[in-house]
Amino acid sequence: MVATNVGMLSVEEAQEKVLSNVRVLEKEERPLLECLGQVLAENVFASIDVPPSDNSAMDGFAVRAESIAGASPSSPKLLRVIAEVAAGHSSDKEVAPDTAIRIMTGAPVPRGADTVVPFEMTDDIARRTRGSADSSQVMVMQELPADANIRRAGEDVRRGSLVLKKDTVLRSAEIGVLASLGRSRVPVIRRPSVAVLATGDEVVDISEPLPPGKIYNSNTYSIAAQVIRYGGIPNILGVAPDQKEALVGAIREGLKSDLLITSGGVSVGDYDVVKNVLATEGEIQFWTVRMKPGKPIAFGVLRARRKAVPHLGLPGNPASSMITFEMFARPAILKMMGKKHLTMSSVVARIMDAVKNTDGRRIFARVKLAKEHGEWVARLTGPQGSGILTSMADANGLAVVPEDVMQVNAGDLVEVLVPDWNEEQF
Ligand code: AMP
Ligand code: MG
Repeated sequence: MVATNVGMLSVEEAQEKVLSNVRVLEKEERPLLECLGQVLAENVFASIDVPPSDNSAMDGFAVRAESIAGASPSSPKLLRVIAEVAAGHSSDKEVAPDTAIRIMTGAPVPRGADTVVPFEMTDDIARRTRGSADSSQVMVMQELPADANIRRAGEDVRRGSLVLKKDTVLRSAEIGVLASLGRSRVPVIRRPSVAVLATGDEVVDISEPLPPGKIYNSNTYSIAAQVIRYGGIPNILGVAPDQKEALVGAIREGLKSDLLITSGGVSVGDYDVVKNVLATEGEIQFWTVRMKPGKPIAFGVLRARRKAVPHLGLPGNPASSMITFEMFARPAILKMMGKKHLTMSSVVARIMDAVKNTDGRRIFARVKLAKEHGEWVARLTGPQGSGILTSMADANGLAVVPEDVMQVNAGDLVEVLVPDWNEEQF
């Protein structure tokens, strides 16, 4: 049996131990739109010019700049209109001196033309509203230099150039750029499958009636939602009772995933079941992390024949399980996805409530952050018991009280972590 108690760890030490047992996953090809938020696994070079050909940036007339030199409202130039070309079509006619081809935005610039005169600089609109006028001619009221209103082939992306580097996190803009290159499938680091297992004889699933003495399983759902939020794919294993055989079966199911997260069964009173099971299935360490909430945590690596699956045992109390997820599971999932930026956003805020630190742990106090008179202000979201899940729902940040600070007072400046930065909550 390999079960050790490594004593008190700082949050950073515990994070490092988790991350050193988690590896970046392999790459896979995915349909373009499914890659949003994933990490590019290869450099992407352009196989074509973007735009692929010279095209018009305006609705107007393709002409030679020399044909309209000196044009002005008092001395317009009259040109002969020899053709019309819409976007998606091209004209085989050549623009000779004193001729023009009527052209729409996005249409390829015809041979011979080197500038596009927008309709607004001609009498085109007036001619068309009059209806009767001759549309085989157009009057140009302004001169333009060569190249005006023409988007040159390759001005966005040159064929052969490096467009997106490996390790780029794909946002909407990168998805668009890949589409502009005609890439329908993209090599990305795959998303981890994360098994989520709740434990406890008292825990029943939300699809069932609630018998006396039981509570609904909230952890599976908050944890699975966090998994999705950070890019993983939850594999929900349900609730295992506090009994060895059931736990062994459920944990073996977890071996099909890339990471197993359990909740409950790791506190002093009841961790024997999880501990004994994990000790036979792999190696397990029990940590006391100097943080509040969330002191007891288990971490281990389950070994199957060809696979090693990290296991994170979070505490059962709903607020503790969510906060320890943010501290340990979040960076693990991000690392598996190939992300390099694992730290959380934070702001400095003025806290409006006092917080006492009684036992030298790092406190993560649930707060509501708001911008008031140009500065961030943080207020506790009510009682901070680790079973009070609504205090998480009201919160948008975690105010940090360091281990060596005995108390923060109302009006002090504190660091507030914002794990899930989301404009809607401010
Ligand atoms: P434990 O860590 O198993 O001792 O659980 C600590 C507390 O969290 C107990 O009050 C449990 O009832 C509660 N708890 C454990 N698992 C869950 C769960 N899946 N959903 C909601 N509460 C839970
Ligand atoms: Mg329990």
